[in-house]
Amino acid sequence: PPLVELRQVSLAYGSGPARMLALEDATLSIAKGEFIAVVGPSGCGKSTLMKLVTGLLPPSGGEVRVHGQVVKGPIRGVGMAFQAPTLMPWRTTLDNILLPLEVVEPHKRRFRANKAEYVARVEALLASVGLGGFGQKYPWQLSGGMQQRSSLCRALVHEPDILMLDEPFGALDAFTREELWSVMQKLWMERRFTAVLVTHDLREAVYLADTVYVMSRRPGKIVKIRKIELPRPRT
Ligand code: ADP
Ligand code: ADP
Repeated sequence: PPLVELRQVSLAYGSGPARMLALEDATLSIAKGEFIAVVGPSGCGKSTLMKLVTGLLPPSGGEVRVHGQVVKGPIRGVGMAFQAPTLMPWRTTLDNILLPLEVVEPHKRRFRANKAEYVARVEALLASVGLGGFGQKYPWQLSGGMQQRSSLCRALVHEPDILMLDEPFGALDAFTREELWSVMQKLWMERRFTAVLVTHDLREAVYLADTVYVMSRRPGKIVKIRKIELPRPRT
């Protein structure tokens, strides 16, 4: 089966007269190793779709399956990166990126026993995003673009089944943003993880994704997802 499958999924917020359909008849499937993008204007339901895919919201109708199983709650093996970098200022870049590994391994002794291996893993990630040697810097000593590179490392360090990218380059200036596109593409070429990118930048979607889904908002409520297959741009 595909890694993720949405079958005629709808999602309503509120109830009674306040009931609002944010997503209707959304059908899509994501193969393992595929990079998809979901493009659409603000308010069209992109974040809602992300929460459905990761099991943070149960669908009001239809079905969400991951690994062929109907999703019943938050799924495991998800990496996330957001528009704001959300790095902890009191931790070095290295310790920020190690955090997801600490969280999945709550036994401090086990974490310490494996730490050398984990640190090597983080250093390899830092090198592939062009931040080799920056592990001991604090986030506030890094530029916005460097912080976002660190966030990508943190999202990937536990080798998630699926990487969710919610406007990760939205707050960056145009030049830095395009630099980050090529960093992202390089990471994906090297590691072939499954990724879902949410953006309102069609150019970004086309640059990064194998498959682009377009969401549009009809007056009132209805959202359709239309799939467009694009050739991967050559670099
Ligand atoms: P996007 O991420 O594309 O901006 P969202 O998925 O956040 O869109 O929102 C889709 C629609 O659902 C919007 O009209 C938004 O106002 C509404 N919405 C989102 N979250 C909630 C919520 N918790 N309660 C009520 N309405 C919501
Ligand atoms: P340590 O480095 O001591 O293992 P952390 O750096 O994870 O701990 O957290 C330090 C303190 O900040 C803790 O009291 C923790 O509860 C709190 N904390 C952790 N994450 C966050 C967060 N995202 N926002 C605010 N406070 C947090």
